[in-house]
Order: sequence, then structure tokens, then C-alpha cells
Amino acid sequence: MASGLNKKNRSELAKAGLRQTIQREQVFDNLKERSTPVTVGDIHKELFGKQIHMDLSTVYRVLEALEKHGLARRIVIENENSAYYEYTGCGHRHYLVCLGCKKIVSIEKCPVKAYEKDLSKKTDFIIEGHSLMLYGYCPECSRKLRKT
Ligand SMILES: [Zn+2]
Ligand SMILES: [Zn+2]
Repeated sequence: MASGLNKKNRSELAKAGLRQTIQREQVFDNLKERSTPVTVGDIHKELFGKQIHMDLSTVYRVLEALEKHGLARRIVIENENSAYYEYTGCGHRHYLVCLGCKKIVSIEKCPVKAYEKDLSKKTDFIIEGHSLMLYGYCPECSRKLRKT
């Protein structure tokens, strides 16, 4: 029964202190395949397309558990009800968010590191991290905007 399961994932879930279930592995696998943050609905839809039938609430619960154990990062976007998730193993990131279609593009290069150091020196704050999100319109949406 366990033969089809991804060994690397299993140990990653176990290391994070999560009991391994097939559903957790399927959601975690899917999250890791993504290059951009996704919603619960996105993962649900893609699993469904792969003949993996799971309730939306189950996907949600799994992502919550992954987040709690440090394997997923929850990204909150202004004026957007659905939360987005990303695999934490992909490292520190910033995001470009399209206000039209809600598409999110990850930016790997961090423009704030030097500023963080400088600010820490000036304010005596021990800075533990930061987040930065840029909002705008993607090429498709800005093309549509120009037309109307
Ligand atoms: Zn867009
Ligand atoms: Zn950064």
C-alpha cells in the first residue's frame, strides 16, 4: 500500500512532526510542484483532474497542518478572501500580485536585505524578517484595461 508514496516526502512530513496520511502526501506533493503560491481551490481542482477526490475542507485542513508544522507558508493578499499557500522549502520570496486576475508571481531576488541590516544598526532592532508584496496588473490584464 505504501509502495507508491514518495519516500522523500514521507520523511519531510515525519521530520516536521506530522503523521503521514495519503491525503497529506498528495496535497504536499502538489504544493511542492507549484512555482507560484496557490489557493485551496487551485490544489483541489488539480487533484480532482488527477482523479484524486478530496473534499475542499480536507485540502484546507491539510494545508493548515502543513503551515502549522512549517512546511507551508500562508500568504495573505489585500482585498482577497482566499489565502494562498506556498512550500516553505522554496526559500525567502517576494510577490507580484495582479489586482485583475489575482495571479501571483514569485520574485526570488530580495531587494530589502541591505536595507534590513542598515535599519537594524540605526534602530537597534533585531530584525527577524520581512515581507514585501507589490500590487499591479499583469500583462494580460493591463492589455484588457487599455482596450476599455
Ligand atoms: Zn492579471
Ligand atoms: Zn526579502
